[in-house]
Amino acid sequence: MTRRRKFWGWGLEGEGLTPAEQADLLRRMALRFGVAELKAVPPPRIEDLDLRPPRIEPPAGLADRITADPYERALHTYGKSLRDIVRVFRREFGPAPDLVAYPTSEEDVVRILDWCADRRVAVVPFGGGSSVVGGVEPAVGDGYAGTLSLDLGRLDRVLEIDRVSRAARIQAGVLGPALEAQLRPHGLTLRHFPQSFQYSSLGGWIATRSGGHYATLYTHIDEFVEGLRVVTARGVVETRRLPASGAGPAPDRLFIGSEGILGVITEAWMRLQDRPRHRAMAAVFFPDFLTGARAVRALAQSGLFPANCRLLDPHEAGEAGAGDGTRAVLVLGFESADHPVDAALSRALELCRDFGGEPESARSATDDPAVARTGSAGAWRDAFLRAPYAREVLVPAGVVADTYETAVTWDRFEAFYSALVETTERAIREISGHPGWVACRFTHVYPDGPAPYFSFRALTRPADTLAAWEHIKTAVSEAIVRLGGTITHHHAVGRDHRRWYDQELPPLFRAALRAAKAELDPRGILNPGVLVDPA
Ligand SMILES: Cc1cc2nc3c(=O)[nH]c(=O)nc-3n(C[C@H](O)[C@H](O)[C@H](O)COP(=O)(O)OP(=O)(O)OC[C@H]3O[C@@H](n4cnc5c(N)ncnc54)[C@H](O)[C@@H]3O)c2cc1C
Repeated sequence: MTRRRKFWGWGLEGEGLTPAEQADLLRRMALRFGVAELKAVPPPRIEDLDLRPPRIEPPAGLADRITADPYERALHTYGKSLRDIVRVFRREFGPAPDLVAYPTSEEDVVRILDWCADRRVAVVPFGGGSSVVGGVEPAVGDGYAGTLSLDLGRLDRVLEIDRVSRAARIQAGVLGPALEAQLRPHGLTLRHFPQSFQYSSLGGWIATRSGGHYATLYTHIDEFVEGLRVVTARGVVETRRLPASGAGPAPDRLFIGSEGILGVITEAWMRLQDRPRHRAMAAVFFPDFLTGARAVRALAQSGLFPANCRLLDPHEAGEAGAGDGTRAVLVLGFESADHPVDAALSRALELCRDFGGEPESARSATDDPAVARTGSAGAWRDAFLRAPYAREVLVPAGVVADTYETAVTWDRFEAFYSALVETTERAIREISGHPGWVACRFTHVYPDGPAPYFSFRALTRPADTLAAWEHIKTAVSEAIVRLGGTITHHHAVGRDHRRWYDQELPPLFRAALRAAKAELDPRGILNPGVLVDPA
């Protein structure tokens, strides 16, 4: 039997931490926060929910593509942010869509958008539903006759492969594993692996400018998009497949990162890669995070472009079992389908030594992905993949466990980093009386600056979790914008980052984006409230 997706958490029903693992996690967390016990909270069941009756009915001609089934409506109410988890466990499903549509072709998408425009029904495109910024929540205000969540999940095929140019035409609803499974027999890969890879889609990655596996060079999905097909409320836009172009502002770039407000991405031509056969990796220890950061800057500016270059501070490293928690760890890796990469790793280790880095023994391999699963680097990787399941245990128990991410130029980085750690700890202390736990790592690095990713935990009463999170989130987001960073390096804007995105965006650019929306979505039905308000 195929297992359903959890409407209340990460992954499939029956997947996640075992009861023993949950108990162990809560015991460790209680110990950290100095309380006697933290209790596991059972997730809600569909029959516990009191969903508002749908305000609209599907049109007869599309009835087999559209459903008002309560499980489907619940599954499409939220993404996977802390705010979402809290509201799910409180059984608050006020924003549930009235209907959920599963188009099986681009023509279906066109017909659904036409019907929604006629009836003034708001449409929220839904890929994997892994948004952590309120991007898929149909919270659109009262100006609409109803809401429809448009799930692209049945558009999940690789349609065409151009082996000569090494590219493929791919439907937007395909999730990461199904995409890679279809490319593997051809020896090809997209090699875009966000942490949410298993339950996020190609269209969602493009719509949010997701950040993947590569720590340098091809960091965002943007670099792999060769051409797009987008169904707008005014018709279909197809951009030309090109390796590059200097012909004016790029049409692709208008839709990459458009978060469902301009149209529904139905297909993309994506640049692919041969599967890597040569890998070399090492973990390097530094006495502290800022010393490691200076080494990473030298690496980022060296032209070596490691595929993996993730610097973990001592808290993050200790938590993941990568080291003993007293030193920062740099997880460094090179890979290639064509040539051995040991020389690049050797040079990178030399650079690290110049900054006092101490390498753990380096490993290299041809054709052996298992090499990534050993040592400190392997420990970190395992913890990384299990982390999404921990939040649905911790958050309902009253642990405010969340992350935020940004990017800033190197000239400002050290002051920026210190101010953000201090702001996060202060905000946590204000709501809970203790400094909590704050950790940082680099997810991506550029010659001109890093993308720091912060994790934090605080303990509150379960009833206060959301208010506590809002307090911390507001404090750090204000600091990020004030100190010259971006409100998001790869998690997108959605509804949750709107306030700060509005401050970051040049006002005339916002006006131009609103004009583009008015042109492509004149009735303002596409994901209202995200990025810009409809006219
Ligand atoms: C555990 C976890 C780990 C994560 N790790 C990463 C990470 O490593 N890197 C990263 O970048 N992000 C990460 N995220 C955030 C999230 O996975 C990304 O934003 C991802 O790109 C969303 O893809 P999705 O298919 O789930 O999109 P959804 O969540 O379904 O949608 C996201 C937004 O895109 C729009 N959209 C979706 N599909 C389409 C389409 N076909 N056409 C037009 N608009 C569309 C939606 O309306 C919404 O606004 C993580 C999230 C979680 C929960």
